[in-house]
Amino acid sequence: MLKIENLHAEIDGKEILKGLSLEVNAGEIHAIMGPNGAGKSTLGYVLGGRPGYEVTAGSITFNGEDLLEKEPHERAAAGVFLGFQYPVEIPGVSNVQFLRESLNAQRTSRGEKPLSGAEFLKLARAQADALGLQQDMLKRPVNVGFSGGEKKRNEMVQMGIIDPAFAILDETDSGLDIDALRIVGDGINRIMRKPTKAVLLITHYQRLLDYVQPDRVHVLADGRITRSGGPELAHELERQGYAEVAA
Ligand code: ADP
Ligand code: MG
Ligand code: MG
Repeated sequence: MLKIENLHAEIDGKEILKGLSLEVNAGEIHAIMGPNGAGKSTLGYVLGGRPGYEVTAGSITFNGEDLLEKEPHERAAAGVFLGFQYPVEIPGVSNVQFLRESLNAQRTSRGEKPLSGAEFLKLARAQADALGLQQDMLKRPVNVGFSGGEKKRNEMVQMGIIDPAFAILDETDSGLDIDALRIVGDGINRIMRKPTKAVLLITHYQRLLDYVQPDRVHVLADGRITRSGGPELAHELERQGYAEVAA
């Protein structure tokens, strides 16, 4: 589904990704772990097409198509969803407005009929319920004044509504208490664990992986994948640290 080959990318002339290769098949959940500053978030941004991140070499294909050629909104319409480490706040735009516009923009560019307000609200309410997010959060401005846990639940609601084929989740577990972690983990499993979908789960810690069992675990260090393995690699990292395992 996703094939990254020898990816080099820089920000402000500084090379961050230095020859990263990775393949993710449909039906798989891959965890990316690694020390601070390794380039994990950069990888997510490059996949999402964030401006300022320049790819200087290598390739990324998604379902056989050149992903790097596509604009960010075209990537989203193709089924790529990017969850941020620090979710953006959008004062003045309600959560439902934002989500409905995101979804309908994608539906339209896929040639599907946009959802009416009532259809959308039904979908949004069901997703909010499934995540234990208060209904009134849907009417509030996007992420404004949300607690860390609420932002992450909101991100899961967003993912449930968008129903993407491929999700890159960047430290979705940061700042979550145990109950919220379980809810988010269940959300990822419920929405994304399907034979036609795949997930790239970026995380510092093993604990989210107790809820979302990865098929593969990779260590990203100094801009490339230095080790890959099964779920046991995450436990090894937790015990021994990155310096020991990934050098
Ligand atoms: P990680 O998510 O693995 O902690 P990041 O991808 O956020 O790492 O960052 C990788 C490196 O890129 C770090 O050294 C960071 O300081 C640098 N970096 C990130 N964003 C910028 C930027 N806008 N300008 C310059 N350097 C940046
Ligand atoms: Mg970081
Ligand atoms: Mg990061």
